[in-house]
Order: sequence, then structure tokens, then C-alpha cells
Amino acid sequence: MKLAHIGIAVKSLNDSVPVFEKIFGTNASEQEHVEEQKVNVRKFHLDNCDIELLEGTDPESPISKHIEKRGEGIHHVSFGIEDIAGALNKLKASGINLINETPRTGADDMLIAFLHPKSTNGVLMELTEPKKS
Ligand code: ZN
Repeated sequence: MKLAHIGIAVKSLNDSVPVFEKIFGTNASEQEHVEEQKVNVRKFHLDNCDIELLEGTDPESPISKHIEKRGEGIHHVSFGIEDIAGALNKLKASGINLINETPRTGADDMLIAFLHPKSTNGVLMELTEPKKS
């Protein structure tokens, strides 16, 4: 398992992207819309992990709800893994609460699943696996 990316909830990509571009000295990826999560995403590819800026596109988006409750900031930490379905089964069997018991489709056409922060000291953890073509 390796750190894949850190997801940051922002109110406005238009406002936030230029700030992070200054900090990282690199341009963000093109904007991608993930309908299932109701978010727009722009990423920074850093040397050892990506930073994902997430903007909700609907009040019901998990990102919009997060900002409403806790404000902007780190939303989740994502870990790359080989067999996400197998990992979810193992985690469930070992008593970890899962938000997604089966993988869903996220940005970059990756399979994703979230673990429940109740099980992980309040940290929303995401597992990701590239879809096999
Ligand atoms: Zn993510």
C-alpha cells in the first residue's frame, strides 16, 4: 500500500487552484467532473503523491456537506492498493467499518472505496486501484 493522494475540500477551484499552483510551482491537471461524487477535481502531481482539490457541484455532494460541517481543508487521505475488492472483504471481516463495501468509480477512472472515519480515528481513508482494462 502506498500513499496515492491527499484530497482537499475547497469552496472554489477557481479561487484555490492559483494559490496551490504558486505553492507547488506546477500547473493543476485539467478539471474533471465525477458525477457519482458530485465533485469537480483538479490534481497536482507531486514527486511522491498527488494533491487533489475537490469542489462540490451540488449541496448533496460529500464535499459540500464536509465544508458545511467542518469548513475547507483536508478531506481524505488516499492509498493505492492492488486488489481493492479483496482488501475491502478482509477489512470488513476484521471489523473495520466501510462506507463503500464494493468499489465505485472515482476520478481518473480509478476504483475507489472509503473506510468509515469512525474506525480510523476520524481520518477519512480512501483506497484506490486503477481499473483493469
Ligand atoms: Zn481521493
